[in-house]
Amino acid sequence: MGLADEQGYVELLMARPASIWWSGERVEDVTSHPATAPAVAAMREVYRLARKGPLAPLLTVGEGDGAYSRQLHVPQSRDDLAKRVEMAEELARQLGTCNYRCVACDALTALSSVTLEMAEDGCGEYCQRLEHFLERARAEDWAISAGLTDPKGDRRLRPGQQPEQYVRVVQRRPDGIVVRGAKLHQSGAVAAHWHLVLPGGALRAGEEEFAVAFAVPRGAPGLSYLVQSEVGRPGGGAPFPPYYAPRHTCWLVFEDVFVPWDEVFLCGEVRWSGPLVSRFARMHRACCGGACKVGFADLVIGAAAALAELSGVAGSPHVRWQLVEMVTLQETWRGCTMAAIYRSQPQPPGGPWLPDQVLSNVAKLNVASGFWRMLALAGDIAGGSVITAPSWKDLCSEPTGRWVRQYMGASGEGRQRLALLHFLRAWVAGDHMVATWHGAGSPAAGRLSLERGVDWEAKKAAVRRLMGCH
Ligand SMILES: Cc1cc2nc3c(=O)[nH]c(=O)nc-3n(C[C@H](O)[C@H](O)[C@H](O)COP(=O)(O)OP(=O)(O)OC[C@H]3O[C@@H](n4cnc5c(N)ncnc54)[C@H](O)[C@@H]3O)c2cc1C
Repeated sequence: MGLADEQGYVELLMARPASIWWSGERVEDVTSHPATAPAVAAMREVYRLARKGPLAPLLTVGEGDGAYSRQLHVPQSRDDLAKRVEMAEELARQLGTCNYRCVACDALTALSSVTLEMAEDGCGEYCQRLEHFLERARAEDWAISAGLTDPKGDRRLRPGQQPEQYVRVVQRRPDGIVVRGAKLHQSGAVAAHWHLVLPGGALRAGEEEFAVAFAVPRGAPGLSYLVQSEVGRPGGGAPFPPYYAPRHTCWLVFEDVFVPWDEVFLCGEVRWSGPLVSRFARMHRACCGGACKVGFADLVIGAAAALAELSGVAGSPHVRWQLVEMVTLQETWRGCTMAAIYRSQPQPPGGPWLPDQVLSNVAKLNVASGFWRMLALAGDIAGGSVITAPSWKDLCSEPTGRWVRQYMGASGEGRQRLALLHFLRAWVAGDHMVATWHGAGSPAAGRLSLERGVDWEAKKAAVRRLMGCH
């Protein structure tokens, strides 16, 4: 087992050159290029926190030589699942952005659950391969990204009607498979050592070529990365950590990438693609859809409360109630996530523990609507300067610095107020707005999954029993 330090993480990353593209240019050095450096910086910080400081026990599993990252751990009990959720919340609060190892953590749990059940069904090789993959990942402390979201093209059509819009197997060989297609919106993939790929949804007979789950290393031949157009940095140079605020994603483009059988975890078994995606969603909607936004909320609420003090409105009843409403929203998300864990179950029996399906979707849906409401309240308290304030560079130059200090000053220093405004801008007018809405699946997908998890008959039966008509 192993816990890499920041240097070890970067060395392993640089050992695998990759074809990364941004704005029409090839990115040669991901650690320093402005389009990729924020994701690498976030990842480095996660490695640092796992080795030193108060969060280290939460971010690791086991002790001494046997210790490994919790990001590579599959929850084995309710308490373990609670720690997984706590990790998401704490890292969100520490980083002020995604920790970028979270999607794969939940994908590994879903794969572990499904391949275990497939083994009981007589398909044991996937389970063994996954165990072997996990051992290697833990030994070298790999940072892994995970991709489910296909481009999907015309959403009304099935994959077979537009195969080029889905990752698919184009060749089966004695030594492995060849895959083609793309996964969009890949969180932190440019900063990852490996990538997991899962189907994007439930599949039917006749759609076998799309029922594929596998792992590929960074820089595999035929694999390219296309980084999102804007990698937002707030505040024109405000002194925030390099990882703060940008929400980094890229496309992964597979042009006939070879995957050896050892790294294939599903290949053609359409009936397991639905359970795989829905178990991933259960995990991810509690951990990323719910818990991590509780951590982000502390940053938004904290900035709004500090700004209210600096501009002299903290005592006004409407501002106090706005702050109270923000906390009410935040604690609702925490409550839903905790309830999803309280009602968690191992699946299959003796296997990984998964949060309750209904409650993890309720957590995600409350976050989707509530986070935007919270941002509106924070924007109200901050005032228009949250998007119109001049840059940090203007503060540091003359004659503009004199003006900024004077006109940003209120009941506190102009410098401090400007910093808080730029800090908050990353939320109220930044990448995280849409990220909280669509991350872990669109709200419509959450509603469908919630609907499927509800025992409607039990509710109707309760009424019939009371009415005396069975
Ligand atoms: C910042 C960010 C990070 C992300 N990170 C990852 C990641 O690391 N890995 C990953 O795999 N994914 C990731 N995602 C993808 C995320 O899960 C998707 O954005 C989400 O599932 C929505 O899919 P979409 O973006 O294709 O939008 P769409 O699915 O096109 O949704 C747009 C609208 O169309 C509706 N719609 C879609 N399909 C249908 C249909 N068939 N019938 C009716 N209505 C439909 C939706 O409900 C929604 O209202 C990330 C997304 C974001 C924004």
